[in-house]
Amino acid sequence: MAGRTHPASSVRDRPAARRLGALIAAALLVAACGAIAPSSATPASLGPTASPAAAVTATPAAPSASPSAVASPTPSATPGPTVVRTPTPPPAPTPRPTSRPTATPPPTAKPPATPPPTLAPSAAVRHGSRSGNDVALTFDMGGRVGDAVAIVDWLVGHGVHATVFMTGAMADNTNTDAGRQVLAVIAAHPGLITLGNHSYTHPDFRTLTAAQMAGELRRTEAALAPYCSQDPRPFFRPPYGGYSTAVLAAVGSAGYRWTVLWDVDTIDWRPIANDPPGPTADEIVAKVLGNAQGGSIVLMHLGGYETYAALPRIVDGLTAAGLDLVNLDRLLGG
Ligand SMILES: [Zn+2]
Repeated sequence: MAGRTHPASSVRDRPAARRLGALIAAALLVAACGAIAPSSATPASLGPTASPAAAVTATPAAPSASPSAVASPTPSATPGPTVVRTPTPPPAPTPRPTSRPTATPPPTAKPPATPPPTLAPSAAVRHGSRSGNDVALTFDMGGRVGDAVAIVDWLVGHGVHATVFMTGAMADNTNTDAGRQVLAVIAAHPGLITLGNHSYTHPDFRTLTAAQMAGELRRTEAALAPYCSQDPRPFFRPPYGGYSTAVLAAVGSAGYRWTVLWDVDTIDWRPIANDPPGPTADEIVAKVLGNAQGGSIVLMHLGGYETYAALPRIVDGLTAAGLDLVNLDRLLGG
């Protein structure tokens, strides 16, 4: 899970003796900022740009570097470098004053012509690989609270890997702390429970513009972040399972590689008393155990009506069938 480093500030921390290096890094940063327009990819790409530059300058500069360093920044300042190219230096950073100037500055005038970097469309997935035994339990959390906290506590208490997709509105909800409590549990067990983005206001993304979709995702990231440092990227669960080519493009460019659907739907959000009645705990258990297979993604809700009652038998039954419960990091890869 990339994307949450802000190493740029370290450039400014360098002592005066390395001022020269810092100047080079600063020049590169300024140039990069000028070249890159308002793409969502920018922050992630700038991170690597800044750190290698800083790291490189720190070590070698002192003795012989001064002349060559003075010479090199001048050409390098011109091209307003590409984002993509800069990550190359990190492998060979440490001791070479000479290699640095050549590696860092993209020499040609090519970059300005390149369009701002875009990420690939998100991939809609209903299940993972069928060749293994991994099964992912996934829990959405939006409107109803129900047994949410008890469910995540139970998962943690039993060491069961799972994934939670939360709305930003739930994290901001002033009527209940449940969303924030769930996030705190997730934050305390990052390797166990994976966090995904379920939008802010739970709209059908097919009705939104690309800018609105990006806004929903970013607003959710901002709402979750104070309570859980885990980046919800690259996992997005579309409300109502609604997606289209346009949705996948917008979601992908926001950094969500996976638009996560499901192949086992418990319909646990519907109460038993409903007109078409929702499932009893027994029915939820039977549905999951009868349909899950290697690669399955099971859809449940932290606010589901009978979910908590069904969960222990689901976990026991899947495990007894030789299936391994994993989070989406494992099932799909980060
Ligand atoms: Zn939902």
